[in-house]
Amino acid sequence: EKITSEGAIALEDKYGAHNYHPLPVVLTKGEGVYVWDVEGKKYYDFLSAYSAVNQGHCHPKIVKAMTDQAQTLTLTSRAFYNDMLGKYEKYATEIFGFDKLLPMNTGAEAVETALKLCRKWAYEKKGLSGNEAQIVVCENNFHGRTTTIISFSNDPVARKNFGPYTTGFIKIEYDNLEALAEVLEQNHNIAGFLVEPIQGEAGVYVPSEGYLREARALCEKHNVLFIADEVQTGIARTGKMLAVDHENVKPDILILGKALSGGAYPVSAVLANDEIMGVIQPGNHGSTFGGNPIAAAVAIAALEVVKNEELAQNAEMLGLLFRDELNKFIPNCNVVNGVRGKGLLNAILINDTEDSSTAWDICMALKENGLLAKPTHGNIIRFAPPLVMNREQLLDCVEIIKTTLKRFEK
Ligand code: PMP
Repeated sequence: EKITSEGAIALEDKYGAHNYHPLPVVLTKGEGVYVWDVEGKKYYDFLSAYSAVNQGHCHPKIVKAMTDQAQTLTLTSRAFYNDMLGKYEKYATEIFGFDKLLPMNTGAEAVETALKLCRKWAYEKKGLSGNEAQIVVCENNFHGRTTTIISFSNDPVARKNFGPYTTGFIKIEYDNLEALAEVLEQNHNIAGFLVEPIQGEAGVYVPSEGYLREARALCEKHNVLFIADEVQTGIARTGKMLAVDHENVKPDILILGKALSGGAYPVSAVLANDEIMGVIQPGNHGSTFGGNPIAAAVAIAALEVVKNEELAQNAEMLGLLFRDELNKFIPNCNVVNGVRGKGLLNAILINDTEDSSTAWDICMALKENGLLAKPTHGNIIRFAPPLVMNREQLLDCVEIIKTTLKRFEK
């Protein structure tokens, strides 16, 4: 029996707990840069499941790797070895240039893992004493939704009434090197600095050139671990394999998720060198599903697609074209104030200071015109299509965006 959009929305609303505030569209199929709703309408996906579907929907090579593996062996837990995990760990550590990988499933889990790893390192290698290791984080961060992670979030909606919270975090302004230098000078119990190379959920804030490089150097000076959360920015999204690559920065701890599987399956990972990862001893940390054979097969395929199809180069090129085209248009349209981003992680700023209603209305109109995007924070609309997009498709999307924005001229 075929379900209608209305029917599917009513079912979810009745039986499902609230998640985000979704756009009212019910998707049933995806291929490459396109998705289809249950009524058969086709859309450009300009969200990519928050940058998880970088390789495009249902990439045939990823689907094949997943279904082949699903017919062979799905899960062993790590009570036993499986014949896929080591291959994946070898491949991924070589690509990203680390000694070791710790496999997890979701982004938030990998962030939690990185925090645990960082603190244990600080007690065992840096010599901090019992229960005092602090981690420096940034204002307006987004790293996930576990209790520890929301403990250092600024978002009242994510935080309110979920306490008591986890302690041990010091928050400083993002993109502010003086603030970081000061906190590192004044505190001798800091274990790490956790940072998003571009703040995605906060509204695609790209820090000043040199920020990551200088921040990394400050961390090194104070023997504090530089932890890059590349869950959203990683895997070619910003025009390089990692966003830190734009500044030739190598983190001490790297966190990956989302597009590590091309969105086909939950796969996340924490990478570090022996000196750090070595503090994890048997029984310290793990997960039943982390490192399962399907995840390993899917991640290998997803990384191969990024490399073979040169998705980083494509993201870089199309990102420049996208911002160029919008920058030509923006001076003639008073509803949009600017465009910013790197590679294919971009956002436009809607001229609507009071609330997000105009941004929301624009996204509804974009949906009518065949393009799916969502307001991120207030008046910011993020644009993050799959990286397998081609030039014609991108220019087509630019036309849809321009036509839609013109209708909202004041
Ligand atoms: N870190 C960053 C930078 C993210 O953008 C996200 C998700 N938006 C997460 C962590 C959390 O990932 P997940 O939703 O898979 O837990």
